[in-house]
Amino acid sequence: MFDKVVIANRGEIALRILRACHELGIKTVAVHSTVDRDLKHVRLADESVCIGPAAPALSYLNIPAVISAAEVTDAVAIHPGYGFLAENADFAERVEQSGFVFIGPRSDTIRLMGDKVSAITAMKKAGVPCVPGSGKPLTDDMAENIRIARDLGYPIIIKAAGGGGGRGMRVVHVEAALKNAIQLTKSEALSAFQNDAVYMEKFLEHPRHIEFQVMADNHGNCVHLGERDCSMQRRHQKIIEESPAPGFDAKTRERMGQRCVEACLAIGYRGAGTFEFLYENGEFYFIEMNTRVQVEHPVTEMVTGLDIVKEQLAVAAGARLSLTQADVVLRGHSIECRINAEDPRTFRPSPGRVKTFHTPGGFGVRVDSHLYDGYVVPPYYDSLVAKLITHAPDRATALARMSNALSEMVVDGIDTNIPLHRELVHDAAFIAGGTDIHYLERKLAHE
Ligand code: ADP
Repeated sequence: MFDKVVIANRGEIALRILRACHELGIKTVAVHSTVDRDLKHVRLADESVCIGPAAPALSYLNIPAVISAAEVTDAVAIHPGYGFLAENADFAERVEQSGFVFIGPRSDTIRLMGDKVSAITAMKKAGVPCVPGSGKPLTDDMAENIRIARDLGYPIIIKAAGGGGGRGMRVVHVEAALKNAIQLTKSEALSAFQNDAVYMEKFLEHPRHIEFQVMADNHGNCVHLGERDCSMQRRHQKIIEESPAPGFDAKTRERMGQRCVEACLAIGYRGAGTFEFLYENGEFYFIEMNTRVQVEHPVTEMVTGLDIVKEQLAVAAGARLSLTQADVVLRGHSIECRINAEDPRTFRPSPGRVKTFHTPGGFGVRVDSHLYDGYVVPPYYDSLVAKLITHAPDRATALARMSNALSEMVVDGIDTNIPLHRELVHDAAFIAGGTDIHYLERKLAHE
């Protein structure tokens, strides 16, 4: 096992990685920006290195600074978490070229799956069903673009090949709006992702977001850990996730999980990964793969009992997977609510000093959060401040537990979306299970 690992991230996921490392006896190095000295994991790490000012481009995205931190602390590996450099193939490559282990897939795999168009091509080749679409970047030939859109049938969605975080997407309902939408999405994609390639997909109107967690080692072994339903979204961003997906049968899970495992073997995948699908009328359509640990990994951990971050560390160090597919047994139901520092109605970010933080507890309640009394949430980063996770033998009990936990939870001093979650856990359609990805937006629009 590694002797020392650099945690190239911040917030709850940095703390999550630190806990996994310490449990395995691995020493930790926290790298942080000047405004993040007081982060919980920075205090708990064996060593810490300030890598730059608040602006992410100068600190958490600063590749030479992160690698230097590994050099000066004699660390052997770097865990990128999610976001920031986690899916940056150049970073993974530079890490390995500098003689460190990148805790994630090989850089060429990240590059292949990071471009959504090449990912779709690879998945089609591996026999994974994809959303009907252009299958290639759109050109300036508007006659051709119009033809592709007509063949698909409106509405269609224009998506950035290099997009992420729910950005770089535009729905088009009528032909008259097509040209403008392509141009706008292209220019947004160029400034946000330094890549103006965009492609077209059929816009599915009532799908659920279903994703499969996979885990592969360097010895040709790969398992899937079942699915998550992440359909409760706002602006293409997940806010509640659960596992298993309501109403899913074991046969469907096995069939799709196996497809994902085969796709992993086909591309020589290594580490933790997620295949994201839209699911409509009993059909799956691949949309993208995330080549990293995801925010919502805890619901899978709760139902499988597998510590995904520890498994990532182990396989990166060369170990074989700790389990086979036959060992993967899903027990009960788990739900996660993402607690964001934001106004629950306007969704405007709400940074500032947390006066009091009371965490809920009890049987089957897990809180992944870096908050503490007096902590100041800075305005420069993602607004996720806590993940509240419940686990129970069945979905109804997991929901009841979530309702209790949400009523116990207190975050004073900043606004959070806890009131929205309290409402959603009592929403009749959500309780029934199986709401689609547009459900929350429709509900908010009607209030
Ligand atoms: P990102 O990388 O930004 O997360 P994804 O391709 O994973 O982008 O899409 C994020 C979300 O956007 C999906 O979960 C879904 O809600 C919506 N979306 C993406 N593609 C489509 C589509 N073809 N039809 C309908 N919704 C879509």
